[in-house]
Amino acid sequence: MSLEFSEELDTSPIVSPTFAPQDAGEIGLRPRLLSDYTGQEKAKGNLSVYIEAARLRNEPLDHTLLYGPPGLGKTTLAGVIANEMGVNIRITSGPAIEKPGDLAALLTNLNPGDILFIDEIHRLNRVVEEILYPAMEDFAIDIIVGKGPSANSIRLDLPKFTLVGATTRAGQLSAPLRDRFGVNLRLELYTPEELAKIVTRSATILGMDIDPQGAMEIASRSRGTPRIANRFLRRVRDFAQICCDGVITKEAADLALQRLEVDELGLDNIDRRMLTAIIQNYGGGPVGLETLAATIGEEAVTLEDVYEPYLMQLGFLSRTPRGRCVTAAAYQHLHIPYDGQLQFDI
Ligand code: ADP
Repeated sequence: MSLEFSEELDTSPIVSPTFAPQDAGEIGLRPRLLSDYTGQEKAKGNLSVYIEAARLRNEPLDHTLLYGPPGLGKTTLAGVIANEMGVNIRITSGPAIEKPGDLAALLTNLNPGDILFIDEIHRLNRVVEEILYPAMEDFAIDIIVGKGPSANSIRLDLPKFTLVGATTRAGQLSAPLRDRFGVNLRLELYTPEELAKIVTRSATILGMDIDPQGAMEIASRSRGTPRIANRFLRRVRDFAQICCDGVITKEAADLALQRLEVDELGLDNIDRRMLTAIIQNYGGGPVGLETLAATIGEEAVTLEDVYEPYLMQLGFLSRTPRGRCVTAAAYQHLHIPYDGQLQFDI
């Protein structure tokens, strides 16, 4: 069979917070203004002051770094900033800018005030990153023309622009790059109430009928992540058509999410296998990540990036210098008797 249609083949876990082919529809769901952007009150509060002040001074916004786990709305927020400032946005990502020339082409094509959004900015290569320093600080780049002894460096002035960088790993950003951002905003996991609002708004845009209990059921199983909530919403819609006259009720949500093997806290079967393996094979831990990954046949990076943040947020898993450990709360959730004798310090 031809692989031309392989975009249909989406093997990412249903609870993965990173963009997957099945999320293509989410672009139309992105809020465009701060007033539509639910949650993240702290980041939003600061940002609205900076935007207002920059507008009053008639200057571009300071370079802004957005950081936090995938799927929480960093790209969306960059678009909101552009709309609120009334400027254009160019979107690219760290790994896509391979050569200094790629970055120079992007920068010289910006108009005054424009936003350059670089997703996964921690993955920029060193040579490209060094071009960015004078661009951010002095709005200029130095370009080498020619080769060998006749090579010449010329300085090109750039329009005043705003760099918005997004990263899931702020710790991996080099200090010189980090220091050049005037605004640093950290995005947090959303509460179920905030996610219920997001799901209800998405349902309205998609023309679906949803009741408050249905929205809350999806929200509380979405691991604090709007991308997962919107993905679940589309899956629940199919079940709602069959069981509940097309209305997204608690029953429809529960039926769909049970079928997807997502439990009432949003854990899927890999979360459960992970916790159970630590309990049954390693007495609750500690166990090293690589060993654990090999035990359950998953990749260590998937466990680390997709599964662990939420399990730690729930207080089911802890990372210790000696390895991963399961907590008493996880035993309780999995209905595994816990003898009260944790074999490790949490
Ligand atoms: P990130 O860049 O952090 O991976 P995105 O900005 O791509 O995340 O967000 C993923 C999806 O989640 C968006 O398409 C949008 O529909 C939705 N979303 C994210 N944040 C919000 C929010 N605060 N309010 C409403 N929808 C949101």
